[in-house]
Amino acid sequence: MSDASELPKKEEEEEVAPEPEEQSDDSSEDEAAGDTEMDFLRNLFSGALGLGSPEKVLDELTLEGVARYIKSGKCQNILCMVGAGISTSAGIPDFRSPGTGLYANLQKYNLPYPEAVFQIDYFKKHPEPFFALAKELYPGQFKPTVCHYFMKLLKDKGLLRRCYSQNIDTLERVAGLEGDDLIEAHGTFYTSHCVSFCCRKEYNLDWMKEKIFSDDVPRCDKCSSLVKPDIVFFGENLPVRFFTSMKMDFPRCDLLIVMGTSLQVQPFAGLVGRVSKSCPRLLINMEKAGQADPLLGLLGFGGGMDFDSDKAYRDVAHISTCDDGCLALADLLGWKAELEELVKREHARIDSQDKSGESKGAAAKASSASVAPEPKKEE
Ligand SMILES: [Zn+2]
Repeated sequence: MSDASELPKKEEEEEVAPEPEEQSDDSSEDEAAGDTEMDFLRNLFSGALGLGSPEKVLDELTLEGVARYIKSGKCQNILCMVGAGISTSAGIPDFRSPGTGLYANLQKYNLPYPEAVFQIDYFKKHPEPFFALAKELYPGQFKPTVCHYFMKLLKDKGLLRRCYSQNIDTLERVAGLEGDDLIEAHGTFYTSHCVSFCCRKEYNLDWMKEKIFSDDVPRCDKCSSLVKPDIVFFGENLPVRFFTSMKMDFPRCDLLIVMGTSLQVQPFAGLVGRVSKSCPRLLINMEKAGQADPLLGLLGFGGGMDFDSDKAYRDVAHISTCDDGCLALADLLGWKAELEELVKREHARIDSQDKSGESKGAAAKASSASVAPEPKKEE
């Protein structure tokens, strides 16, 4: 990590630091509430003035329709929103969601209740269960999926405005998305910080990994406070960049691709409602998600997905794994061979680094190597 990236980041965090929960939660909620009011008024006026029928951009609500739109050249600002579903084929466990068997494994840690392991206040007093769990769940390999490389292809072709990820597994970075391409809404394991507000020293993934595997509770070498991976715990704020970028990106978005998320965690899920009314939205997922509440729709609170009603005009659901969906879309775009070649080449590179003796550390280094060349533009 360069010093250049550390400095603005520190300032940003100090802004939030004094009263992390109340202060900034309130302000973001206020802002969100304000925006909702504005949306409501906008809908009301556009309805009253007969401006209510939004432009229909796709010629057909199918993957083919989306592909033709991308190929038309009218689509230049694609946003991706991704969740745990894009990493499952990489063998990454869904770290925080119940129902993955994770919480069932927690009994041995004597937690007051299972979620405590990700609760910031509990962590500060009892960090051991979190780090034991991190060791247990640490991925054997950091190998991005077809879906991750599809996003890299969008970037290479100048079409990706940004990827908003709920994942903390750093696979977007390993696939070659750089700091500026990426909003890690729930934080990342890629960096860690000293929890002391006066210190906030940054540590990298290799450092953290070594501590985790040596069963040491990671302590800051400057001030001896705890060091915590930069993932967002319950009771912590989302990164400031999430809110600032969101306001710039979504109004300008001309195609939203949502992959591998059931759109149930706020405020992430609400992002689908922030694109313009004419912006097409493609969901690639094992099941439909994010659908509008019909009652709220009647009241003018649009925003939810509408794949099937007779009013559907822009939302497309492609029900498949994320990898299959991306391959199918790449095929329609004429990019399939290029995508497969990219996956093959990158996986071979990761495998050869794994074999070169450094095993998991090599994968971590591969990830920094693919990100490191230029100083990260964090803010
Ligand atoms: Zn420190």
